[in-house]
Amino acid sequence: MTHLNHIDGQWVSSATGATFEDRSPADERDLIGAFPDSGAEDVARAVASVAEAWPAWAAASPEVRADALFKAADIMSRRADEIAAELTREEGKTIGEARNEARRIAANFRLYAGEALRLNGETYPSEAGQIVFSLREAVGVVAVITPWNFPLSMAARKIAPALAAGNGVIFKPSEMTPLMGQRLVEVLLEAGIPPKLLALVQGRGPTVGRAITAQAGIDAITFTGSYAVGRDIQSSVSTDTRCQLEMGGKNATVVLADADPAKAAAIIERGAFGLTGQACTGTSRVLVARPLYDAVVEKLASVARAIKVGPGTAEGVKMGPLATRGQYDKVLSYVAIAREEGARIVTGGESLCDSDPALAHGYFVSPAVIADLPADSRLLREEIFGPVVAIGAFDTLDEAIAIADETEYGLAVSLVTNDLPAVLRFARTTRHGVVKVNGPTTGVGLNAPFGGYKHSSNQAAKEQGGATVMDFYTRIKSVYLGA
Ligand code: NAD
Repeated sequence: MTHLNHIDGQWVSSATGATFEDRSPADERDLIGAFPDSGAEDVARAVASVAEAWPAWAAASPEVRADALFKAADIMSRRADEIAAELTREEGKTIGEARNEARRIAANFRLYAGEALRLNGETYPSEAGQIVFSLREAVGVVAVITPWNFPLSMAARKIAPALAAGNGVIFKPSEMTPLMGQRLVEVLLEAGIPPKLLALVQGRGPTVGRAITAQAGIDAITFTGSYAVGRDIQSSVSTDTRCQLEMGGKNATVVLADADPAKAAAIIERGAFGLTGQACTGTSRVLVARPLYDAVVEKLASVARAIKVGPGTAEGVKMGPLATRGQYDKVLSYVAIAREEGARIVTGGESLCDSDPALAHGYFVSPAVIADLPADSRLLREEIFGPVVAIGAFDTLDEAIAIADETEYGLAVSLVTNDLPAVLRFARTTRHGVVKVNGPTTGVGLNAPFGGYKHSSNQAAKEQGGATVMDFYTRIKSVYLGA
């Protein structure tokens, strides 16, 4: 089936008519569809129509904007399981993981419907006879560029607050998950979002993504993806375009000496191998207090060996395929690097394509636990974004904090312990934006602030989630009444 862009209120092909193919990572023979391979001309048309449409939306009463988002929530609730099945087919995550993601979108829409109703300015102390107050206004045209790993939720947490604040949106989903991008737009249009206000421009990063960053008339860009692309976007947008960058992680779980190794292994399993290790907050490193090291390695290896890998819809499958051939090659290449560096592959890290005819045409690998890496190993520094966990030992809490913080990222860290003073010291000291205790590094709340340090986020990304979320999508104007 050939799918379309949504520009100027119409479903249309790309200006050149070119398309790209979208295939399932569980079986690359399964063609999901062809999608528009858009370029600069499509982006220019989309921006022009959204620029025309947003002032009326911004001027509409907050109830109108909230109503549309509440309706979108109802539609999403109704369609969640059907869309989840497509999500598994397109991205590969298990059907349980896909349902969790799809069902949560309704709550996300409701949260921002509420924000549309709550948006307010403030009054300020002023001279006698004068009243000074602030107005919150929409920013204008917001470009939303998202990755494939949470193709619904990453997009919804940007599009919903942007619309709630009165902006128009031009949305470019990942070229790996264009169908999920389309489904989200369909739901919002069915809910009554004005057709010209929401543009969908499908295509590849280096072409249509770059065209967005180069296009005049975009007031804000909100991006989630890799550090390399985020840096590229930051350097190409004009200085008067707001830019929010949410990027990678090299997250660690730290197991302190009082922890139970079996409980620690269960927590690490969820963080490292859930979503096939493809979460920005995924656990990629494990630091264990030396007395527990051998026990945690052994327990973790045994839970990893027990994970059934296969197509996300198959009975009993706990881990789906990697989402793309590039991801599959990358994961296997990091396992090879670990071998060359002299590390111990405790378990996993192998392609499963030859192990079972049902897996022959997908991107399946076994979950890997890798121990005894040299301190300068690339596996301890670079984001792998797959089911590969590197495990090492530490002797003191200060050393654990130092190792956890020594990468260029700073997104999520988790601690397994009941030692409250150690937790407080860690939480106060670490340069990670999310600190979790007795839980995996993955999994964040809808309305808690989210963002990282260093290469994980730029400053504006701190405005994702939580009470400050609307700051990115609004401008504040100060008004003085009286002399
Ligand atoms: P990516 O950076 O390759 O692509 C992200 C998006 O940017 C895609 O839509 C892509 O088409 C587009 N893009 C690519 N090149 C572009 C360019 N030059 N200009 C403009 N747009 C361009 O990332 P990905 O592989 O889709 O996703 C994985 C990455 O996303 C990982 O690094 C992961 O940590 C990160 N991520 C971060 C978070 C977070 O909240 N911090 C959440 C999910 C994923």
